[in-house]
Amino acid sequence: MGGIYFNIWSCSDCEYTSRTVSGPFRVEPSDGTPEASIEYRWCNNCQEIQRVFTAKGAVIIPGKEPNTKIDRWEFRTLEDFNNAIRKLERKKKWNIFFFLTSNHKKLKNYYEAKSISEKLSDKNRVFYESIKSKPTCLNCNSVDVSEYSYEKDRHKCGGRFICADSGRKGSVGTYEVIKYNADGTSTSEMRDMR
Ligand SMILES: [Zn+2]
Ligand SMILES: [Zn+2]
Repeated sequence: MGGIYFNIWSCSDCEYTSRTVSGPFRVEPSDGTPEASIEYRWCNNCQEIQRVFTAKGAVIIPGKEPNTKIDRWEFRTLEDFNNAIRKLERKKKWNIFFFLTSNHKKLKNYYEAKSISEKLSDKNRVFYESIKSKPTCLNCNSVDVSEYSYEKDRHKCGGRFICADSGRKGSVGTYEVIKYNADGTSTSEMRDMR
């Protein structure tokens, strides 16, 4: 059994509120499908914020792809990763013995991971540009979704969307896995927690 967590959605200007499971939860491409970027957006059919398949290729953050020498959880965003490289480059510039330090190896690993993830990101981008799928709600499979992520969007009342973390809410023994196809259609299954 593990804890269950939610994103609690609300609006700055009206009474709208809804929630989505934030964890444990997985969204993954079906076999052979390149990874797409998934965003929280307004769905006109659900009348709620939902996870939406954006029909754009996912940008892969270094460490998130298998077989690199970077820890999977080391970087949350691409910006964090690029900052880490910049920091090490600065150290390299000021230390003539840099090549003798552990940072030398670290920087090499970072550049290796950067190259792998950039290739994957390019592959994802080119693939989705070539097939012209439509953004699709991963909850109801409707294509009647906002073209913006919730951060850049406005509720129909004009308010801004607010996302809060519920904290732990009870325990679950299973969790939902959504698998999407390249055309945006998706299926959902429950898996046992390990
Ligand atoms: Zn509102
Ligand atoms: Zn929907």
